Amino acid sequence: MRFLLTILLFLSTLSALEVKSGYWKSGETLLTFFEKHKIPQKLYYNLKKLDQELCAEIYAGARYFMSYEKDRLTEVLIPISEDMQIKIYREKGEFRFTTIPISYTTVHDSFVIELQNSPYYDIVKHTGLKDLADEFVAIYKNSIDFSRSIRRGDKLVISYSQNMRLGKPHGNPKIETAMIETNKRPHYLFNYKSRYFNEDGKEIEGFTMLRPVRNSWISSRFTKKRWHPILKRYRAHLGVDYAANRGTPIRAAASGKVIHKGRKGGYGNTIIISHRSGFRTLYAHMKGYKRGIYRGKYVKRGQIIGYVGSTGLSTGPHLHFGLYKRGAPINPLHVVKVARTKLKGKEKQKFKTVLQEYKTQIKQIIASKATPKHIDILEDGDYITEVKVASAAQMVN
Ligand SMILES: [Zn+2]
Repeated sequence: MRFLLTILLFLSTLSALEVKSGYWKSGETLLTFFEKHKIPQKLYYNLKKLDQELCAEIYAGARYFMSYEKDRLTEVLIPISEDMQIKIYREKGEFRFTTIPISYTTVHDSFVIELQNSPYYDIVKHTGLKDLADEFVAIYKNSIDFSRSIRRGDKLVISYSQNMRLGKPHGNPKIETAMIETNKRPHYLFNYKSRYFNEDGKEIEGFTMLRPVRNSWISSRFTKKRWHPILKRYRAHLGVDYAANRGTPIRAAASGKVIHKGRKGGYGNTIIISHRSGFRTLYAHMKGYKRGIYRGKYVKRGQIIGYVGSTGLSTGPHLHFGLYKRGAPINPLHVVKVARTKLKGKEKQKFKTVLQEYKTQIKQIIASKATPKHIDILEDGDYITEVKVASAAQMVN
């Protein structure tokens, strides 16, 4: 491996490859970016609709990379989600567009700590991961009042995974199981089918949504990363499409604050609502907005915010509905439920088996006194070398 790295670094020196990086600015679109870097706009206009729609997913703050060979731009990499990125590259004198997976590594860790301050503070102190602390607190928020019931010395156990890329946490951490004591009494949580349940099979994370359009059918599902056998590349669809008649009312899936109302690239007329616990919902291709809906307004769950249309890039009238948790797209169909679930029957039996495994795991973590891994996060400047290697590797391929 080291040998290979040396060769790649050598190659990159030989070809005078230079990598620059930047953060995507708020308000910047792919078209303004193309203009700035002299990439022909027809590259965007000739894209398939699904790809153009995906370009609207580029988010402010995304870290992108540009490779230059002898001062000539040869490649641009822009992330659109945790799993996928847009790649613009030169081939036979012309710029081309594709979407490729993002490679990352995953850190798994399980630990037990005795609380000294608050769960949030102690998790950050021991792991270095603010998102992990946020996630933990958000899940328990509805069932335990941390400020009142925690005593110094109460135990906290977490088993989680975190994706890492170029020395930084990449996307949200995933908690598999956890336990927190209040006055020596344990409160468990178990990740079961991407939702969190307590010991009785009752869902404990509070966020629920309703289906944003009635009288509709799902015309396209959520896919983070799917191999397209004909196009021979990976594609993604970061939301659910609900096909419905033009003009069908669109309702806020949950209560929250409107933080965007207006055009958003291939998404056309779009509303984004921010909800509690770091969730956001996105409603795209709208024909128009309901009167009285504006940026900054608080809306109630079920309140009409606009109407189904096909603005932006859309084959027919439908609502493209996106759900994000702290910026990362997640499958809305896993969350669209009127109330919190209580597992019953066969499902509960299945859950009980999983629960026993998790409980054994927690016991082992406590018995082994596993200390948390502190995740060291690299400073910006340190990753360029790694990108150089990655890009050079792509050139060699
Ligand atoms: Zn869609």
